[in-house]
Amino acid sequence: MAPLFTRDELADATGGTARGLSEEGISSISIDSRDIALGGALFVAIKGERFDGHDFVDQALENGAAAAMVSQEKAGGLSGPILVVPDALEGLEALARAARARSRAQIVAVTGSVGKTTTKEALRLVFSAAGNTHASIKSFNNHWGVPLTLARLPRDVDFGVFEIGMNHAGEITPLVKLVRPHIAVITSIAPAHLDAFGSLEGIARAKAEIFSGLEPGGTALIGADHDQLGLLRQEAERAGVGTVVTYGLAPDSDWQVTDYQVLGDAASAEIRHGDEHYRLTIAAPGRHMVANAAGALATAVLSGIDPSVALGALAAFGAQAGRGQKSLLGEADVPLVLTDESYNANTASMRAALEVFASQEAPGGRKIVVLGDMLELGKDSAALHASLADAVGASGADRVYLVGEHMWALAEALEAGRVTLHAKSAEELAEPLLDSLAYGDAVMVKGSNGMRLAGLVQKIRDKF
Ligand code: ATP
Repeated sequence: MAPLFTRDELADATGGTARGLSEEGISSISIDSRDIALGGALFVAIKGERFDGHDFVDQALENGAAAAMVSQEKAGGLSGPILVVPDALEGLEALARAARARSRAQIVAVTGSVGKTTTKEALRLVFSAAGNTHASIKSFNNHWGVPLTLARLPRDVDFGVFEIGMNHAGEITPLVKLVRPHIAVITSIAPAHLDAFGSLEGIARAKAEIFSGLEPGGTALIGADHDQLGLLRQEAERAGVGTVVTYGLAPDSDWQVTDYQVLGDAASAEIRHGDEHYRLTIAAPGRHMVANAAGALATAVLSGIDPSVALGALAAFGAQAGRGQKSLLGEADVPLVLTDESYNANTASMRAALEVFASQEAPGGRKIVVLGDMLELGKDSAALHASLADAVGASGADRVYLVGEHMWALAEALEAGRVTLHAKSAEELAEPLLDSLAYGDAVMVKGSNGMRLAGLVQKIRDKF
């Protein structure tokens, strides 16, 4: 197999000096010294908030890395095969640029307030059915995750899918200028990281930065199920984007989801595009999941893939870990049904999760929700928490457990007696919750990552 980068390509791309590297170069790239693929990895010594990769160069080489890329100022005492560059992160960006420049793949970038990772996985499925595909892993979507994923782009793939995230305005622009997508997807605009932006308009403008890196003639593909569509269209026009395509449940979407049906643990819908009608079936319930799948179908067709190939692939599209994945725990005939939504939460994903939960049945009849604070919502936090009262009411939950101080606003907005228990933390809730759960219950756990509800989910798994 051709190397990812030969030694000379590494030096050319980064302007660095190779010391002791073999001519054949490297076959993979890692920034984690514990996670080195054997035989041919380049370890990039990134300086993060807590760790400096330069302290782990020896360990990476011991673990089998073929070489390490290090910043000049730290190169002094290091031995072993080393590529010395002015700055390791900039070196990684240079490799990303080189990988992109030589690639003939169709490139898609995905951003949005919710649904980036989920949509990226739907795209991975549809593209993998049509050709060799390279996609971001996990949520590698930030200032190192994007260049790392791009630098890993193999020479000969047909499709590349890149997730791009942000916490602040201005973060997407440099990342999308590396990726240079042919299609830029914005999944949705919702109150996430609202404290850093002040308004939904601010969030929408920051997400619209993704249009600035589109290749000439590229397409903006926008999820339409929110109230910032007009602003995103304006921003696309301002960025000189020629083609804007929309998808979602909103009635005049170009790829419109209609006739949504829950089929147990799956869902089905009709997708209308002009005169064409497609029947879509996916492996998870949820209007939001069907909308994400419609976005993936649109992307596939815009990329020249036969719709039937994309629809076939999307039959396997389901919820991702921590994002609505369902498990049946314990006894086969009367299991405890656990929906793990502990990865994150904002009002859009809370509503989506509660709506899905409303459509689900508990084997023993009792339905329970555990809802933790939605963090980083700024001054509107109380109102946004309170705004979920109708969705909690409609969820069919027999018991409502709340976790965190922001949830007081929701507690007050719910009718008296609706809250079973309100705990300060996941740790405090663990014992009373575990004591009250029984086989036959359906329980859904959701909150912001910082609420540590994943630990609670693990405790439920351990007990049942
Ligand atoms: P993050 O930026 O936190 O990594 P993300 O944008 O990658 O988030 P996902 O990880 O895909 O989003 O999903 C986060 C949550 O949002 C999950 O609970 C998921 O089920 C839900 N979700 C996924 N797609 C949508 C959507 N289109 N609308 C509302 N909620 C969604």
